[in-house]
Amino acid sequence: MDLVTPVHREIIDTHVHPIQSLTSAESLIREMDKAKVSKAVLLALDLDPNVLDTNQSLRDEIIYDFLSYSLFLDPYRLLDTMKAILRVGNTTNVHVADIVKGHPDRFLGFGSVNPSKNGNYVKEKLQEIFDLSLKGIKLIPTLQFFDPKRNKNLKSIFKFAYRQDWPILIHLGRDPGPWEIHTLRCVEKGHPKFWNKVVKKFSKNKIIFAHLGGYGEINDETWLNEVLRLSKKNTNIFLDTSAVPYQLEDPTVVESIRKTCGFERILFGTDTPVVLGTSMAHSKQIIEKNSILTQEEKSLIFSENAKKLFNL
Ligand SMILES: [Zn+2]
Repeated sequence: MDLVTPVHREIIDTHVHPIQSLTSAESLIREMDKAKVSKAVLLALDLDPNVLDTNQSLRDEIIYDFLSYSLFLDPYRLLDTMKAILRVGNTTNVHVADIVKGHPDRFLGFGSVNPSKNGNYVKEKLQEIFDLSLKGIKLIPTLQFFDPKRNKNLKSIFKFAYRQDWPILIHLGRDPGPWEIHTLRCVEKGHPKFWNKVVKKFSKNKIIFAHLGGYGEINDETWLNEVLRLSKKNTNIFLDTSAVPYQLEDPTVVESIRKTCGFERILFGTDTPVVLGTSMAHSKQIIEKNSILTQEEKSLIFSENAKKLFNL
């Protein structure tokens, strides 16, 4: 069969952000129809827009890290930008559940809990995610400001998720705006190497690492290498292609995936609508037109793996 001839196959987008000020259920469905995506996983983001005012030591750390990048920067202006991004990005579990309830045939919802909060808060959020019938958890160390190596709440989050058979989707790499500045310690925590211990300890949990190990304006090769190393040792790890489908156009990357986790653990995701200048249809096309991947590998990525993982 000609590798570039489009093949009719089911497509599931496993990484979509229903950010209220950027999109709506209707516009997401329009985008899905255009891309011929049958189902999408919507992710909540439990962010605290006030944390940069209330947590003085975090604020001081960030100001110091900005200035160690460049004395020319205005750290207070960057802090304001960070606060604005946290406000816009904050996506409640209730909002995700509402959209799923309105269109259960098109959407699956993941809740989110901020591990930087206290134990009681985390307990309540997990119960909320359960009560809302959401099917997984999204964590994002960069925007939730937690250290995967030291955080005390990860244990209860992973245990709860295991009992419900919920996958945990973890953001890796940098983030837009000030989160591209690599001297920030909160940005550094987006590296997959910080998850080594947790992944080993919770070897039965279903874990999805986003962005094939990480993304940023400048690609850091160690993200992919480290996440493949982790996934080779731990068969419970899945990787999504969101924001980085072009990585699969590199024959060396495809070969490394075949030799480590294999394409049975790669999921199609797009990060819609947060990656500027792209679309769900474009992300799909990049993989559809890929001439290195086999048709079988494409089917696994586009929906076969997701169906198994999410029991669809
Ligand atoms: Zn994302």
